[in-house]
This record gives sequence, structure tokens and C-alpha cells, in this order.
Amino acid sequence: MTEFLRELPKCEHHVHLEGTLEPSLLFQLAKRNNITLPAQFPESPEACIERYNNFADLQDFLDHYYIGMSVLLHENDFYDLAMEYFTKAHSDGCLHSEVFFDPQGHVERGIDIETVVAGFDRACKQANNQFGTTNKLIMCLLRHLPAEAGMQTLHSAKPFYEKGIIHGLGLDSAEKPFPPHLFEECYLFLKESFPQVGLTAHAGEEGDHTYVSNSMDLLKVTRIDHGVQSQNSTELMARLAESKTMLSMCPLSNVKLQVVKDVSELPIRTFLENDVPFSLNSDDPAYFGGYILDNYVTVHTRFGFTVDEWKKIVVAGINGSWCDETRKNQLLAQAEAVVEKYRQLI
Ligand SMILES: [Zn+2]
Repeated sequence: MTEFLRELPKCEHHVHLEGTLEPSLLFQLAKRNNITLPAQFPESPEACIERYNNFADLQDFLDHYYIGMSVLLHENDFYDLAMEYFTKAHSDGCLHSEVFFDPQGHVERGIDIETVVAGFDRACKQANNQFGTTNKLIMCLLRHLPAEAGMQTLHSAKPFYEKGIIHGLGLDSAEKPFPPHLFEECYLFLKESFPQVGLTAHAGEEGDHTYVSNSMDLLKVTRIDHGVQSQNSTELMARLAESKTMLSMCPLSNVKLQVVKDVSELPIRTFLENDVPFSLNSDDPAYFGGYILDNYVTVHTRFGFTVDEWKKIVVAGINGSWCDETRKNQLLAQAEAVVEKYRQLI
């Protein structure tokens, strides 16, 4: 079954590049850039792994996450970070990745957005050449910062949207104190400037299901990141199914950040049975102990889906992607071939 899950042409829609910073690379970059990590940060990669196993909540994780980011200074650092992720994703059978990055977390440390985007974009192109995988960059705004700061970031990113280097906009970081309406202006500005750009937002992880519906109503998003709390409204689930609004779920992340105690508590079967489209993703894999295939395997151990149920999940992920129809058709054909192969075997 693990081989079947590996061979399925998976798409990842919810992974923060800064969250793929493995402790080994973190310490390597700290050394390369002569950075002294703060005293409260774990002292070695091993101590990091141990500490990452015990996050109290979203904020405890974010505190570590922002310290981790501080080792990223030069274009090459961003390139190395993204290439490590793309290499791992490829080995997991992930053929299309839409990856988040947080420019504000770098710009506020004095690093130009140009440096960040240049490193990530070079890695996207290299991964495409080397592995044949397709990749898209999605810029996220940090919701704990004011919307005015978000507007400034959008203005500085305009050239990258114009050139098609950045393909989407997301909203991340601490959810509950910063509801969607605060960022209405940012989303409307981008939608008016670049109608083709994909819009998504983290919602319904910490916040209740109204964060999901308000993101759809006010921010005009066509995708929701997490969305777990949608399970508490049958009306919302029907709307998500009807509008084919995909939820990018992150099972291992939800356990690590105490959204649920175990993956078996997630409403994955409920969503599947109610035709709510969703994909399975790694979120911040270096911090949450698992990449995309680990998430698939864990879900399988809890839900025991059939080959055809897995096909439905993977097809929803392909259809919910922001790649063009040609690429979607390639991935759909591949999904069909893998399913046919394993239908005889399992
Ligand atoms: Zn996330």
C-alpha cells in the first residue's frame, strides 16, 4: 500500500518553504552565515528534533519557526532550502507543488524580497528541469501584521505577479485573533490588479467555520488552507462541495499543533463522503515530522481507504491545482494508470 501511495501522482498545495527547513540545514546555514542562534533555541540538530516533538500550540511552534528563518540571508540560502524540499517531494511521488513563502518574515530582517524570490524561483526551475515536476510559488501575508504592511508587500511583489513568477496569494500565521475581514483590501487589490492569480487563505484551523465562509465571502478565495472546522456546518460543507472549493488539509500538522489528538479524529471520511474536495499536505514538514507521503501513509493507517477512495482523493487534488489543463490531464492519466495497476494487486 505504501508503494501504491508513493506512485500515485500527488499534488501538494499547503507547504511553507520556510517550514521545510530541516534542523541539519538550519545549523549548516547558521554556520555558513556566522549567525548565533538565541540562547533559548535548541543547541544542536538532535535537540531541535526533540524540541519540535513537543510543541505546546501554534504559537510555540511559530516562536521556533521565526528563529529558524533567521539563518536565511542570501539567494543561495533560499535556493538550497527550496531544492531540499523539491528533492524530498519528488522522492515521495509528489509531481506538482504549490509552495508558500512569507516575504514579510524576511523583509523585516532587512532582506530584499528580490533575494527571496530569486532563490525560490531558481529552485522551482531547477526542480522542473531535474525532476520534471511542476511548481508554483504562492506568496503569503502574515496576518499578525497589519493590513497596511500587507499592502506594501503586495506593491513590492507586483513585478513578480506581472511576470508570472508568483502565482497566488495566501494568508498565514496566528489565525484566531486576526479574522479574514482585516485583509479584505489586500485581496481585492490583488484580484483587481491580477484577475488570473489564485487566492487562498488559512482558515478553520484555530478559528471556527465562520473563518472559512468569511474567507470565501470577503476575500473571494477559491481554496481554503486547513478548513478542518468546516465539519461543524453542514451548510458550509454543501457549499464547499457545490463550489468545488478545495481544502488543503495537513493531518500530521493538526496533531502536532493539538487541533486533534490523533489523525483518526479528523473529518477526512466525512469530507470524502460529502464530496468536499480536499488534498493532503505536509504544512511545515521539518517541524511536524513528516512530508507528503508520511501524511498519506498515516491517513491510510487510520482510515484504510480503498484504491478507489484514494483515487478520488488524488483526483480532487489534481483538479484543485492551479496548473494548466494540459498538466492536469497528464496527472489524471497517470493517476488512472497507477490505480489500474494496483487494482489488480491490492
Ligand atoms: Zn500552513
